[in-house]
Formats: sequence, C-alpha cells, structure tokens
Amino acid sequence: MLSHYLLLVLGCIGVALLAWRVTQLLVRYVRTVTCLHNDTQRYFAEASGKYSWFKKNVQYAPIFSKRHNREFQLSSALNVGTLPTRMQLVFLVGYFATNVAFCVMTIDFSGSLGSVASLVRNRTGYLSVVNMIPLFLMAGRNNPLITLLGISFDTFNLLHRWLGRIVMLEAVAHTLAFLISNASRSSWAGAFDTTFKVPFLMWGFIATAAFVAICIQASSIFRHAYYETFKLAHIALAILSIIGLWYHLDLKKLPQLKYLYAVVVLWVFDRAARLIRLAYRNVGAGGTKTLVEALPGGACRVTVTMARPWDFKPGQHAYLYMPTIGYWQSHPFTVAWSDESDHHSAEEKLPMRRQDILGNKKTTFSFIVRGRTGFTGALYSRAAAHPDGKMVTRCLVEGPYRGSSRLHSYGTVMLFAGGVGITQAVPHVRDLVAGYSNGTVATRKVIMVWTIQSPEHLEWIRPWMTEVLAMEKRREVLRILLFVSRPRSTKEIHSPSATVQMFPGRPNIDTLLGHEMENQIGTMAVSVCGPGALSDEVRRAVRSRQYQGNVDFVEEAFSW
Ligand SMILES: Cc1cc2nc3c(=O)[nH]c(=O)nc-3n(C[C@H](O)[C@H](O)[C@H](O)COP(=O)(O)OP(=O)(O)OC[C@H]3O[C@@H](n4cnc5c(N)ncnc54)[C@H](O)[C@@H]3O)c2cc1C
Repeated sequence: MLSHYLLLVLGCIGVALLAWRVTQLLVRYVRTVTCLHNDTQRYFAEASGKYSWFKKNVQYAPIFSKRHNREFQLSSALNVGTLPTRMQLVFLVGYFATNVAFCVMTIDFSGSLGSVASLVRNRTGYLSVVNMIPLFLMAGRNNPLITLLGISFDTFNLLHRWLGRIVMLEAVAHTLAFLISNASRSSWAGAFDTTFKVPFLMWGFIATAAFVAICIQASSIFRHAYYETFKLAHIALAILSIIGLWYHLDLKKLPQLKYLYAVVVLWVFDRAARLIRLAYRNVGAGGTKTLVEALPGGACRVTVTMARPWDFKPGQHAYLYMPTIGYWQSHPFTVAWSDESDHHSAEEKLPMRRQDILGNKKTTFSFIVRGRTGFTGALYSRAAAHPDGKMVTRCLVEGPYRGSSRLHSYGTVMLFAGGVGITQAVPHVRDLVAGYSNGTVATRKVIMVWTIQSPEHLEWIRPWMTEVLAMEKRREVLRILLFVSRPRSTKEIHSPSATVQMFPGRPNIDTLLGHEMENQIGTMAVSVCGPGALSDEVRRAVRSRQYQGNVDFVEEAFSW
C-alpha cells in the first residue's frame, strides 16, 4: 500500500510540473503574439517582485552561492562531479526522506528484533522494486517526460543516479533485514548458508550485489574517465539485476513482479524506439552519407546528408554512430546547422521536371565535434591524417532529441557560448534573425557572446556565420561579441564591423549583462552553453540582476 503512495507522490509532482509547464507555454505564446508589433514591450521588461524572488532564490539558485555546473576535479582526468541546484536538492532530500519514512512508519520498534527486521525487510524490498520504475524511465533517451515537462535529459540523468542510490540502499537494507531476522531465529552462519542454498534467496542476493556494483562503477570518477567501459558494465549489471530480481520474485510468485514487468517494458520501449529512429532516419532513400573535415583547434565539422531528415529546431541533438571509429559507440552532439543541398549521383540523368529537382534536394545536418581523448579524438586524428583534412565515412544518426525552448517570445536574447558550446547558439541566432525579418517573433535584439581560445576557432562556424551575416535585416537585430582568451598577439584581434566585434581576454559577464539590461526590450532570455565555470558565472550574473528587469536563464550542458 505504501508503495502505491510513493507512486502517488511522484504522480502528484509530475502533475504539478505539467501545470507549471503549460502555464509557461501559455505565457510565452501570449507574450509572442502581444509583442509581434510592439517595439518597446515595456510591460514585459519589468521585473515582478515575487516572481523575481522565486527565480533568484529557488528556480535558478545553486545550493550555495554560485557553484553548480563547474565540476570538482582532482586532476584533469579525475572528475568528482557537480552539485545539484537548490530545487533538485529539495526534491532529492524530500524524496529520500519520504522513502525512509515509508520504510519505518507504523512499525513497532519495541517488538522483537526478528519481527521488526521482517517488517523492514518487506517494506524496503517492496519500495526498492517500485523505485525501479522511475529509475528506468529517467534513464531513457526516449523518456516522454522530457518533452512533456520540458525538463532536460541531464536533469533526469541526475535524478536517475540518485534514484539508483535509493534503490541500492533499499535493496541492501532488504538483504540485511532478511539476514538479521533469519539470524535472530538461528545463527548468522545459518542465515548465510540458507541465502546461498535456497534459489529464491540466492537470486535476490545476486540482484542486490549487482545494484551495489552498479553504484560503485557509476561513480563520477570512473564514469568520466572510462565512459565506454562504464556504459557496457552498467548495461550488463542492470541486466543481471533484473534477471536476479525476476527469479527472486517469480520463484515465490510475489506480487511485486508486476512492477518489474513495467520496468522491462520501459527499457524495451526505449531500446526499440532508438532502433526504429536509427533505421528510419538512415536506411533507404539512398542512405546517409557523411563528410568529416578536420578544423583548427582539434575539432571536426561533420556534415551528414540524411536519408530521411527531420524538421530542424534550435537546440536539437542527435547521437552519431561511426562504426569505422568506434564500433558500438554512440555520442551526443548538437545539430549546429541544417541545409538543403543538391544531390546528384553520377548515374543520374539531368532532372527534367520540378518534382525531380525537388527530389534531388537532400537535407544535411552539420555538427562541430571537439576532439577529446576517446571517440572524438580518434575522429579528429583520422580526418586530419587525410591530405586535405577531409574524409567521407559511414555514420548513422539517431535523433532528433529535445530541442531547447524556442526563444521567440523574448524581446532581448543574449546567448553566451564557450568553445564548442557555440553549436547551441548558432541555430538560435539564425532562427531569431529569420523570425525578426519575417515579423514572426517578439525578438528585437540578439547578442551573441562567444569566448574562444584562439581566432582559428572562428573557422568552425565561418561558413554559417557568413550566411547569417548576409541575412535580411541582420544589422538591425544581431550583434556578435567575440572574446579571444589566449591570443598569440594583439594583431590577431580586429573587429570586422560595429556589429561584429572582437576583444582579447575573457568577457566580464556581469558588465555585459548590465549594459544590455539598460536598454532591455521586453522579457530577456540569457542562455549559456560552455564550460561549467562560464555557466556558473552567467547564472550568478542573471540571479544578481533579477530585480532590475524580467530576465530568464536557460542553461544547456554538454555532460552528464
Ligand atoms: C546533449 C549533448 C550535446 C553535446 N553536443 C556537443 C557538440 O555539439 N560538440 C561537441 O564537441 N561535444 C558535444 N557534446 C559532448 C560530447 O558528447 C562528448 O564530448 C563526447 O561524447 C566525448 O566522447 P569521447 O569518447 O571523445 O569522450 P572521452 O574523451 O572518453 O571523455 C570525455 C568526456 O565526455 C564524456 N562522454 C564520453 N562519451 C559520452 C557519451 N556518449 N555521452 C555523454 N558523455 C560522454 C565522458 O564522461 C567525459 O567526461 C555534447 C554532449 C551532450 C550531452
């Protein structure tokens, strides 16, 4: 019964979040429509006292004063993880406390050790299985709650990790409680003996051992240092835990088996959806073709001509599989650009009809991949080894996955990017400049602030920015500020025009934000994508200026 309450608690939280999401979408819709022909949007620029307080102290707040996305690192290879936000912490502590309460409430602890232990054993076992439902739901790339609640995969990934720890603790408590109640009737040696002799108990023990092993191998240090090994071991241990639990419950025909069915269904659904997406997007219609170009600064531009493209929206990401680089691996990358290109094969005749011409149009999606030590490093080395730095290879694309919220309803949009985080900003810039020119967005000012280590990195997005800079009415709406953090000489720093300016060093985020807020039009969105330290700095600046104007903060992260 208590387990039903636990699901009810989660359901209620889900409904509350859905109501919040619907309200937000409605507000944005009304704001967009109201501001389409309003160039000042004064009403929407004003801060509202209570909501500003909420955003500053709850919605955008890190646990303490600043740190959220910046990782704790023992060395460049040893990553100990990040801190959750204040809201995430409240949820996690609340959920953990609810679980503890459900494990012990109404138990008469003055009773015999054996009877108390068997009650605790039943509760913890039951709750551990029930918690596996949200645990598996939140692990999925195709988790429907991502779209429904507008919560990012990395937030669900964080919750998945903490739910995993709760499941493990309850499974360990369940096993210990069994051993204690059994030992209280016979002896500890007898209790262990029974555990390994009785199949029902042995399978339960295997499941618990698998949960403990998962929690150890999924620790941040191991996960970040050996991601592929972590992933394979994680899947193998998860399968082992399900098999163990299945036999444990089935041999005694325990009622909790129905929850395990739900867990298996969720997992199969996610895997099947991934496979279907992969097959649909890449197989047939001439297949998917890929060009990889090595770029300065250890990055690659990957341009994929899709067999069946999707409707591109800013902030979408996809998983790339390149069997020649990493056989079983798939890595997430943000779609930085999408284009229509003419596609002719050598054997094709000249197109005669309009349909033939349109049929020859193929959609390409482009990604910028920064070389790290694994798959991405190997990809860069392979492309750079070609004489012209270009190679054609086979690549399968699984996507699209969640685009970040559209920024159409904001009068002022400020996009901060660090390094390869620019892949998040460019599609928004293109989308908003096009929207401004067509009169379909509330946006009147877009400021893109990009920090790069060297001017060479401009090459990553040069062809796309040339297109953006040539867009109609671009000068009226877009300004680009480039900061080169490690210029080799001051000669490298030159500003091509008043709307595209280059500076040496790092930006002073707070000053830039304050400057834009002095002439803020409508509600302002400040988004950031880049290293954790940059994200935390932008978050701090946005929080500190909550009472000066209506400013929303949007953070995109490239890690989990
Ligand atoms: C939503 C999203 C969008 C991203 N967009 C871009 C982008 O546009 N351009 C870009 O260069 N990078 C992007 N990244 C980061 C990119 O996915 C990783 O840098 C890449 O997977 C590293 O692969 P590797 O084998 O070279 O990693 P390694 O050198 O082995 O490890 C480097 C780091 O990447 C992490 N990592 C490794 N594999 C994965 C994986 N499959 N999923 C998540 N993290 C992983 C590791 O934990 C480690 O912290 C994005 C990440 C996410 C989550």
